[in-house]
Order: sequence, then C-alpha cells, then structure tokens
Amino acid sequence: MPTPTRDPVALAGVQRELEQQLEERLAVIQELAPFALPSVDPVAYQTAASHRLAVEQITAALNRISQGTYGRCTRCGEPIAPARLEVLPHVATCIECQSHAEAA
Ligand SMILES: [Zn+2]
Repeated sequence: MPTPTRDPVALAGVQRELEQQLEERLAVIQELAPFALPSVDPVAYQTAASHRLAVEQITAALNRISQGTYGRCTRCGEPIAPARLEVLPHVATCIECQSHAEAA
C-alpha cells in the first residue's frame, strides 16, 4: 500500500529545524560541561544528560531524513501522524508504540 511521503520542501525545513536544535543543545552541553558532574552540580548534570539524550534523538532523526525513512515509526514501520511530527520533529515512534513503551 502506498504511503504518503512528506514533500521535499517540508522535509528540508524539518532538517533545518533539527540541525538548529542540535547546534543549540550541543552549545548548552559544552557550556555545562565543566559543572555537569553529579558531585559538582547535580542540576547541571541532569540538564546536560537530558540535552545529550535529545541530541541522540535529533541525530537519529537527521539520519532517518538522509536515509529516506523519516516520518516512519522505527518500531512498527507505520507512518507517524504529521501533527505529531510537527510538535515533536525528532520522534522515532508513532503514538501507539510510544504508549506501549511508556506502559512497559
Ligand atoms: Zn509504531
């Protein structure tokens, strides 16, 4: 069954947005690096950790764009709802798989 692909113009916009987010988060991580140790500053450590996780997710999303699999759930392979991608452009899973993952 053919699935709708996001048009290249929109995808380029998503890529730009993700790259920008990536840069911003990497800058924050770098800024926090001297303090981001549990023994030095637990809050900075937590903040840096969450930014690192986001960097991983954004990098994975950028890889999916270059591989042409962006917008598909990495668990079930079904297209992710465009509205979901608009709010969270780096998400890897559809709402259904996400709710399974959270329940587990
Ligand atoms: Zn799924």
